[in-house]
Amino acid sequence: MNPFSLEVEDLNVNYGKTPVLWNVSLKVPKGVLVGILGPNGAGKSTFLKSILGLVKPMSGMIEFLGRASSLVKSQVAYVPQRGSVDWDFPITALEVVLMGRFGRLGFLNRPRKADKEAAMRALELVGMSAFKDRQIGELSGGQQQRLFVARALLQEAEILLLDEPFAGVDLTTEKAMISLLKEWKKEGKTVFVVHHDLPTVSEYFDWVILLNTRLVAAGPVSEVFTKENIASAFGKNHTLFEEAAFLSAKTSSGIL
Ligand code: ADP
Repeated sequence: MNPFSLEVEDLNVNYGKTPVLWNVSLKVPKGVLVGILGPNGAGKSTFLKSILGLVKPMSGMIEFLGRASSLVKSQVAYVPQRGSVDWDFPITALEVVLMGRFGRLGFLNRPRKADKEAAMRALELVGMSAFKDRQIGELSGGQQQRLFVARALLQEAEILLLDEPFAGVDLTTEKAMISLLKEWKKEGKTVFVVHHDLPTVSEYFDWVILLNTRLVAAGPVSEVFTKENIASAFGKNHTLFEEAAFLSAKTSSGIL
């Protein structure tokens, strides 16, 4: 059995003539919670989109679970950035979650009672059952995010990719979502999260991918989330740099 959830080799992505990702190669084991970090414009969203096939790379090899990504689509769930979703679309919370079953149902088959029950269970897990009949546009940012996590739960995917799930989400929801993702990880699933907040990295993740057009570093948090790597990804003038460096120094010396 292939031990890797994701293998990427020589991934190059351009928008027009501008390189956005350059020679990115990495391997991520199964069953880890991965933080994808880097400054704005570093190519984090593009990385997720290109491994999903939503953006076409110029070149590169991408495999999930040892197979070409096109062959394992139903095994990979994606929670897009909130800003990229049309929240005016007339659809209820329950219907969004049920979309997690489309891969298995096929578009012509209507969801059955068992699918609806599974959707209700997923809504319950993210604390959203009371909102099942709400139009998605009437939900708060945190609720919308939890809805997409419920949809991914229903898909029963092995790999989950979340693009900035905590943007505009209150701290209680963020902590609840992280515990849910940690539960998922315990089941052997692999979770990738585009994340901004450097001080929470060591608490949330096992593995990090530091990007800035090129891959700065990828590996276990304890080895890779170092002052030097953070500085090369973000630059020494980054406002969060000092704070993160301080925290990671404390973590590596065992204080945190
Ligand atoms: P991040 O998620 O790290 O902030 P992105 O992957 O969103 O970075 O963007 C990387 C770079 O690509 C940025 O300079 C951004 O302006 C540019 N970019 C993103 N999407 C597009 C697009 N659809 N067309 C052209 N340029 C884009």
